[in-house]
Amino acid sequence: MGEDLQKILITEEQIDSRLAELAAQIDKDYEGKDILVVGVLKGAVMVMADLVRKIHTPLTMDWMAVSSYGSGTKSSGVVRILKDLETDLEGRHVLIVEDIIDSGLTLSWLKSNLESRGPASVQIATLLRKPEAATVDIHVEYVGFDIANEFVVGYGLDYAEKYRNLPFIGTLAPHVYGG
Ligand code: 5GP
Ligand code: MG
Ligand code: MG
Repeated sequence: MGEDLQKILITEEQIDSRLAELAAQIDKDYEGKDILVVGVLKGAVMVMADLVRKIHTPLTMDWMAVSSYGSGTKSSGVVRILKDLETDLEGRHVLIVEDIIDSGLTLSWLKSNLESRGPASVQIATLLRKPEAATVDIHVEYVGFDIANEFVVGYGLDYAEKYRNLPFIGTLAPHVYGG
């Protein structure tokens, strides 16, 4: 797997200390409340697991899986629910946890969808954010790292379902895309 990588962009240690900062901010912001943390499968599995272990506020976890249709690597904003939540959102404080926001179209759809279910609040935490996300009208409360516009893998993020288990965020060598 080592020879597939081009470079490590964000190390395990950097992810760990940034998540600790986000968790501390979340504890402050949600003081006195219970959080329903919603992880978006499959990419957010790692960040979800590591982030919730650093949060001290009472919380429950649920998962959603969505697929966004688009040409190739670009999402279109047309989203289909593959797995819905098991939790009633009425009156809940929902914190969506994402791996990465690229165009922001998937998340903007997801946020409106969850907001229509009567929650007390819906906020967003993402490990990574790309520049294009700034062009959509979506407020993201907790951002781990703003990164350049390049394709990254690891720590939950895949290329053709591979590399999710890398403990860091990295880029792939060109020969991997070449087949
Ligand atoms: P968007 O924000 O464009 O609607 O879509 C976000 C989704 O596209 C992410 O949840 C992820 O599945 C995928 N994605 C966007 N950028 C990257 C990237 O750099 N690497 C990987 N592995 N997936 C990405
Ligand atoms: Mg995602
Ligand atoms: Mg993917």
